[in-house]
Amino acid sequence: MPDTELTLARTGGRPLSRILFSTEQIAERVREIGREITEAYPKDEELLVLGTLKGSFIFLSDVVREIARPMEVDFLIASSYGGGTVSTGEVSLLYDSSSVLTGKHVILVEDIVDSGTTLNRLLPQLRTHNPASLEVCALLHKHIARDLVLEPRWVGFDCPHDFVIGYGLDHSEYFRNLPFIGVIQP
Ligand code: 5GP
Ligand code: MG
Ligand code: MG
Repeated sequence: MPDTELTLARTGGRPLSRILFSTEQIAERVREIGREITEAYPKDEELLVLGTLKGSFIFLSDVVREIARPMEVDFLIASSYGGGTVSTGEVSLLYDSSSVLTGKHVILVEDIVDSGTTLNRLLPQLRTHNPASLEVCALLHKHIARDLVLEPRWVGFDCPHDFVIGYGLDHSEYFRNLPFIGVIQP
């Protein structure tokens, strides 16, 4: 359990209803995923890890350091939520990576799969660049989406149907810096 005073200092006094995944649990799962990704691709073929900003920035930075092979890292910005806690169904690409995807193994790193709208909009766009392969690595999966164009090959944790924060995930841009994943009190 993290120190309560330190947590309140990080949230500006806003209490959490509960902690879902601790720093230690996350670190262990990230190591496992890193090992699996390392073994999943031939070492002499190109790998591009493509993170979706901003939510995946912490997960991506931890997971790439557990992948023991050469790779490229890049980001794109897909925005579906605005400031609220309910998906609008619209996904806009605010920044489109200029990396070459063609012929490379591409792993799209997502913070969380909720309605699946983001993945269902992004994946077909990425496929038009003819990557050698395209997989998704998601920190969290709510298992709400019924018609995902591609199930994530790697999932950190199955996630309850709450609005979660921390370890990169925000509420109105705050709480990304919490070193664990939790639910804030409404
Ligand atoms: P989807 O398109 O799958 O509905 O949602 C994807 C995006 O919505 C995620 O990448 C994330 O930015 C945001 N999102 C969905 N659920 C949550 C949640 O529980 N907490 C936070 N902080 N963001 C979420
Ligand atoms: Mg995201
Ligand atoms: Mg957000």
